Amino acid sequence: MSDWACSVCQKAVPLPALICTMCTETPTYDCDTKCRDRHQTRQIVYRTGALRQGIFYAFREVAFDIKIKKVEKIGGKLHVYEDSYTDDKNDGPLYRFPAHMLPDDEDKAKLLVFSACNDAFAYTFELAATLLRDISATIEEVNIDNVNRNDTIVKYVSTGIVDGTPYGHNAIIVDIKPELGGKSYAFDLAGAQNGQLHAVVPFGEFANKGGEVISQIHPHGYFRDLGERIRQGKQSMLETREPRVYHVQHNIHQRMLAAVKEWEGENKTSLRKLVRSTSKGFIDGKASLLARVSTEMKASVVKWEQEGRHLEPFTPLVVSFAQLLTEKVEECTVKPQGGGSRAYRRFQADKKRRGRFPASMKEFTTAEGTTFKFL
Ligand SMILES: [Zn+2]
Ligand SMILES: [Zn+2]
Repeated sequence: MSDWACSVCQKAVPLPALICTMCTETPTYDCDTKCRDRHQTRQIVYRTGALRQGIFYAFREVAFDIKIKKVEKIGGKLHVYEDSYTDDKNDGPLYRFPAHMLPDDEDKAKLLVFSACNDAFAYTFELAATLLRDISATIEEVNIDNVNRNDTIVKYVSTGIVDGTPYGHNAIIVDIKPELGGKSYAFDLAGAQNGQLHAVVPFGEFANKGGEVISQIHPHGYFRDLGERIRQGKQSMLETREPRVYHVQHNIHQRMLAAVKEWEGENKTSLRKLVRSTSKGFIDGKASLLARVSTEMKASVVKWEQEGRHLEPFTPLVVSFAQLLTEKVEECTVKPQGGGSRAYRRFQADKKRRGRFPASMKEFTTAEGTTFKFL
């Protein structure tokens, strides 16, 4: 026996010790291959989250769709003032991300992901699908209400009124295969807007405080398909949303995926190998991949602007907020066999409390000044 504790079961590691080839920064020991596999699975989960979030932040920085006039920080909260949108063909649907107004990296992250949690999963689906396939039992995309919410941003629309729209929150819940430890993790890529800056959080920490309600649950890829259906005019969208955004962001997303493939080819590696490499290999590889992807996405936006901001003609299916309220809530598109995942069991248990908006909410006023009451 050695003096080293196993990174998984905490027991003393027998000699000769198994040293993890992924954690080269600090030597990490495991007592047997079973513990090693569980330990490395956890590393793969966190690295996948870091990659996915890094790429999404880079995507938002070039594909930002909110026109911002001013940002102020008062008492720890960001007060964000939206500018008025015009019909000028050179105005939008993308706007420069106001990085110069946000010297603090955490504040920058909060605004980057603000009201973009669907997008976080829609535009990084392909990356994670490959990376999580071998280690997960289930992957589900969920809408969660009241999730440890700590509002960090107050947004004012161009008329000066506070935007009171009750935006929901989305996350992905991944259940690891039982033989690899069976733990559940939440991928909370857009959590910064709620003051939660980690890409991955153990599910128990993420949604076990008591107030959270899983209001919808879907298979992995649902948000990607939803955006795609809106873009094709097959799915209704709010009239306040700018439909052209779906088109231009789609093009940037395609460029992102191509750049990832190119990077893999040039470096004779794959994302799958990258998340299994040494500590230094992962840090350097991630930095090089993000730089490459960001440059390509930026170039695609510059080219698009120079070519006159052309977008494919399309007829969106728009609905008003009032219509949306009367639309039937799309309950659940995942019905696992047997007991189902932990997320699914909580979803079943929360059935009564579930609604389109947070259960605690009695009424709210939109930025346009219309008040809606929930009966
Ligand atoms: Zn062990
Ligand atoms: Zn390790």
